[in-house]
Amino acid sequence: MSEPAEPDFLQQPVTALRGVGDAVAEKLVRLGILRVADLLFHLPMRYQDRTRIYPIASLKVGQEVLVEGEIDYAEVVQRGRTMLLCYLNDGSGTLILRFFHFTSAQKYSLRKGVLLRCFGEVRQSGMKLEMAHPECHYLRADAPEPIANTLTPTYPTTEGLQQRSLRRLIDLALEHVDTLPDLLPENVVRQHRFPPLAHDLRKLHTPPSGSTVEGMRPHRLIFEELLAHQLGVQQARHELKQVQAHAMREDNRYWQQLRRALPFAPTNAQNRVIADITHDLQQDVPMNRLVQGDVGSGKTLVAVAAALHAITNGFQVALMAPTELLAEQHYQNLVRWLEPLGIETVYISGNQTPRQRRRKVENLLLGIGHIAVGTHALFQRTVEFLQLGLIIIDEQHRFGVHQRMALREKGKQGEHYPHQLVMTATPIPRTLAMTAYGDLDYSVIDELPPGRTPITTVALNNERRDEVIERISAACREGRQVYWVCTLIEESEALQCEAAEVTAATLHERLPHVAVGLVHGRLHGSEKENMMRQFKLGEIQLLVATTVIEVGVDVPNASLMVIENAERMGLSQLHQLRGRVGRGSVASSCVLLYQHPLGRTARKRLDAMRTTTDGFMIADIDLELRGPGEVLGTRQTGDVRLRVASLLRDQHWLPAVQAAARDVVAHYPERVAALTQRWLQQPDGETATQFFQS
Ligand code: ADP
Ligand code: MG
Repeated sequence: MSEPAEPDFLQQPVTALRGVGDAVAEKLVRLGILRVADLLFHLPMRYQDRTRIYPIASLKVGQEVLVEGEIDYAEVVQRGRTMLLCYLNDGSGTLILRFFHFTSAQKYSLRKGVLLRCFGEVRQSGMKLEMAHPECHYLRADAPEPIANTLTPTYPTTEGLQQRSLRRLIDLALEHVDTLPDLLPENVVRQHRFPPLAHDLRKLHTPPSGSTVEGMRPHRLIFEELLAHQLGVQQARHELKQVQAHAMREDNRYWQQLRRALPFAPTNAQNRVIADITHDLQQDVPMNRLVQGDVGSGKTLVAVAAALHAITNGFQVALMAPTELLAEQHYQNLVRWLEPLGIETVYISGNQTPRQRRRKVENLLLGIGHIAVGTHALFQRTVEFLQLGLIIIDEQHRFGVHQRMALREKGKQGEHYPHQLVMTATPIPRTLAMTAYGDLDYSVIDELPPGRTPITTVALNNERRDEVIERISAACREGRQVYWVCTLIEESEALQCEAAEVTAATLHERLPHVAVGLVHGRLHGSEKENMMRQFKLGEIQLLVATTVIEVGVDVPNASLMVIENAERMGLSQLHQLRGRVGRGSVASSCVLLYQHPLGRTARKRLDAMRTTTDGFMIADIDLELRGPGEVLGTRQTGDVRLRVASLLRDQHWLPAVQAAARDVVAHYPERVAALTQRWLQQPDGETATQFFQS
C-alpha cells in the first residue's frame, strides 16, 4: 500500500508515514532523519549476502552467513556469567549459538528439536565454530521459507530500531523517490554523464538481483555529497569571519610556570604550533584551528598551552573528548599539571548524578572552575559558564563541521563567540585538508618527542594464537603490560562488547597468573575508569578492549599490543590503535592477528603496518589502496562523516566539485540550503544542538 503521492510528501516529517509515531520518530532523529526525504539519504553502510544457505561443515571463521538446522541440544552454562548455548545441526555439522542475554521465553523457545534459520558471523570457539547472538528465525518443517534473492543492505541504526523496521520505512519513502528535486546543475550532470538521482538511490537501497558490491558505486551521489560538504564548509568559514571573539593578550606567566615544572621540554614542533595558536587567540575573530599530530606527538600539552593563554586572560576553557575514558584521562593530566598553578579543573561526566554534578556546574557558573573537561555532556543545557573563551575538541574526527558550529553557538556569550581548537591524530594530506576541514586553519605537529623506541610490528595467522598468548605471558612476567584489542565488523556495539567478554574469559583461563581486565563501551563510566586506573597503576597487566581505546589512551608501560581481525580494519584505524604502545622507553611490539586467507588489499595493509610507523606515509598508502578497493566503507576512515563519498578514495572528484560549488553559488544560490540540508542533516540548525543537549 502506498502513501498518497503528493509532490512534497518527501518534505513531510517522518510521522507522515504509516506506523511512525512519536517514539519511532525520536529514534529516527538520533540518526538525523527528520523528514521522509532523509530516509532516502540514509544509506547502507554495507551489504549482507543472505541469498544462500551455507552447510555448517563449510563455514569459515569470519564469514557472515545464513545457516539452517535443528537444535540438537540446548544448555544454560556458567562461565563467569550465565549464557545459553544451543547446538545447531544441519546434517553436515554442528554450530554453537551463544546467547549472553536471553529471556526465559527465549530459553524456552530455543530448545531441542526446534528448526532455525540463523544469520550471523562465524567465530572460533575452542575447537568448534559459533555464532554469538545470531539473528534467528523459527522455521516450520511443513512450510519452506523463501530466502532473499538480492543483497541485503545494512544501515547505521540506533538502539531500539531494528534493521528490518528501518528497511520498511525506507521502502515506503522509495515509492516517492521520483519526486525528489534534482539539485545538481544540469551542465554538471551532462558533463559527467550522471544517471538520474532516483536511479542511484534505488540501486543502493534495493540492489538489483545479481549485483555485486563492487558494481554499486554511486558516482552521482558521491559527487553530490562532496558538493554539499564543500558548500557547507565554505559557508561555515564565511560566517565565522563575520563574528566577534574576545582578543586575548599574550601573557605566558602560567605557561612558563608549567614548563619549569615539566620533566621534559616541548619539542620544536609543539612550540611552533603553540605560536600559531597564540597568534590566533590575540585576534578579535574566533580562532578556528585544526592541529594534526601523530599519535604520541604530544597534543595534550599544546591544548594545555592554549588553555593557559585563555585562563591567564580571565576566561574559562572547555575541553571535550570523544569518550569518557579519554575525558577522564585528560582530567587526571590536567589536575596533575594545573593544580600546582592554582587552576581548578572540573570534570563533567554523563554518568554523574544531578547531585554529584550540581556543585561542579555551580563552580563553572561562578567562574571558580577554570577549565571543564568532559565528553559532549559538557554541552548539555545545564552546563553554563561564566566566561567561556576557548573550546578545545580532542580527537576531532568524530565531530563534523555542524557539530563544531553547534558547539560554537552553545558557547556564544553576548556578541562574542569562543575560540575553537580541534586536535586530531588522523593524518590528512594537504590537498584533502582544504576540503575536509575547509572551515579550519591548519597546523601540524610533525615531530615526536625524543627517546621513543620504534615499534616492531608482525602479522600472524590466527592459528598461531597460542604463540601470541605465550608472548603475553612472557611480557607480563617481565613487568610489561599488554593490550588485546577485539574488533568485529558488526556495527552493533553489543556484539563487540560480547566478543571482548568472551576473549577476556578465554585469556583469563589460559593465563591464570596474569591479571586480566576488560573495557568496552557498555561498561559504566565508573567501571571503565576503575579498570583504566588499575591498568595505569599496573594492577591489571592485560587489558582486553574493544576499539574504545582507539584514541588517546596513554599508558607508557604498555609495550605489547595484539589486534584481532586486523585484516578487516582500515589502515588509519590500525595505526591509531598501534599508537597506544611505544609511548615509553621500552621497545614495543604490535601483533596483528589475521584470518587466513588474506585478500590482496588486506595483505598490503598489513605489509604497510609492518614496514612503517610514519602516519603520513600510512595515510598515503591508505589513499593508494583505497583506489577501487572499498566501495561504501567511508565510515571507518574517520575524518569526516560522509555517507557515500570518501575524501581519500574520491579525491579525484575534488577539482570538479569545487568548480560545481562556484557554479551553484553563482547561478543557483537557492540550492545551497537544499543541498546542505539534504546531506548534512541540518534541517534548521536544530539537529546537532538537540544531539548535544540530549
Ligand atoms: P597525543 O598527541 O597522542 O595526544 P599525548 O599528548 O597523550 O599524545 O602525549 C603522549 C605522551 O608524551 C604523554 O605521556 C606526554 O606527557 C608525553 N609528552 C608530550 N610532550 C612531550 C615532550 N615534548 N617530550 C617528552 N614527552 C612528551
Ligand atoms: Mg591525545
